[in-house]
Amino acid sequence: MALIVQKYGGTSVGTVERIEAVADKIVRFRDNGDDIVVVVSAMSGETNRLVAMAQSIMDYPTPREMDVLLSTGEQVTIALLSMALEKRGYGARSFTGGQVKILTCDTHTKARIREIDGSRIHAQLEQGNVVVVAGFQGIDENGNITTLGRGGSDTTAVALAAALEADECQIYTDVKGVYTTDPRVVEDARLLSSITFEEMLELASLGAKVLQIRSVEFAGKYKVPLRVLSSFEEGPGTLISLEGDTNMEDPAIAGIAFERDEAKLTIAGVPDVPGIAYKVLGPVSDAGIEVDVIVQNAAADGTNDITFTVKRGESERAKGILDKIQASVGAREVVLDKKIGKVSLVGVGMRSHAGIAAKMFKALFDENINIQLITTSEIKISVVIEEKYLELAVRTLHSAFELGDPDYEKESVE
Ligand code: ADP
Ligand code: ASP
Ligand code: MG
Repeated sequence: MALIVQKYGGTSVGTVERIEAVADKIVRFRDNGDDIVVVVSAMSGETNRLVAMAQSIMDYPTPREMDVLLSTGEQVTIALLSMALEKRGYGARSFTGGQVKILTCDTHTKARIREIDGSRIHAQLEQGNVVVVAGFQGIDENGNITTLGRGGSDTTAVALAAALEADECQIYTDVKGVYTTDPRVVEDARLLSSITFEEMLELASLGAKVLQIRSVEFAGKYKVPLRVLSSFEEGPGTLISLEGDTNMEDPAIAGIAFERDEAKLTIAGVPDVPGIAYKVLGPVSDAGIEVDVIVQNAAADGTNDITFTVKRGESERAKGILDKIQASVGAREVVLDKKIGKVSLVGVGMRSHAGIAAKMFKALFDENINIQLITTSEIKISVVIEEKYLELAVRTLHSAFELGDPDYEKESVE
């Protein structure tokens, strides 16, 4: 008998029929004698619908009220799933984040979990009930509802698994597990039976939305055995392995991630003197805007161009800050380009394989894709390119590094 935390994403609970199917799945685990804590997302499209309604009232809705609004989506699914379990003759109790004391900081819309009091959940499990918890939400120390950022139900699940010392955390979603890249973009993407925690962390932070990055961080910190599986098909899914042992035999590349949600800012012709990067980027970071890739280029005439990327939704605000400092730092111009995309190769095996970057650049050159910015770490290489080439770049790199599933063709004709 095991204690398992299961999370079902938006598509998996997208209709009442699907919620009933999830209940059938949970019942099979209960019949097996396992204790089950379930975390659910809002029905697919619901969170977007709520965001759109808020934005039709104001461009930048008040974060506190946004959280009150967004948390309602998950409240619907916990109740419906609990009813479906009760209908099947199984005890079930639904709880909002606040009711099971998922205590977070007070940064509305991107709160971080500080503490979880598992006592109420344990008491329910002891009574033989399935515990159904609303994902994505918590409560701050003043009792305000908070949310954990888009995709945050993954984090609720892993954090609960850590707090309850569960035997496994299972993330059920609409694909069979973690693939070499998004299977919706590359048809022959290969399902990975396991991936290292380090690689998963990079993929998640570089745009692979299959797991929210905070959930991977929690899994690593608290050593939670984490698996991604399909809620629609049987299969072992992908294990996020925590061993962290890597060796020379590891393939160079585990996967490819990509992101459309960034924009590029350039402040051109600033003087090439000490302190200039600080004068430009300091005010941007003071405004709470996260900066990603940064490149500084010195020209022969003694000036610099500083280029960096930020989230697209924050790019206008970042441009406003640069426009304000343009005169005082002596810049020639400020340019914002929203039509960019970032593609990243990730793999712990990169450390021991030379020439990965050259191979990547050649493959992109062969398709005539211009690289605007490059950034690397020990286990990743990212390039910023024109947005319209993003999917082409992902497919090109996926085949250049031979990441495709050799059985793909065979499976599709069967
Ligand atoms: P859920 O609603 O279950 O949380 P998400 O839409 O948040 O599901 O995440 C699952 C989606 O992540 C998949 O449908 C897939 O399109 C996308 N995805 C992106 N990169 C990957 C990857 N490397 N492996 C699997 N899925 C990926
Ligand atoms: N419903 C939230 C979202 O759409 C949280 C989640 O699904 O994980 O982002
Ligand atoms: Mg998700």
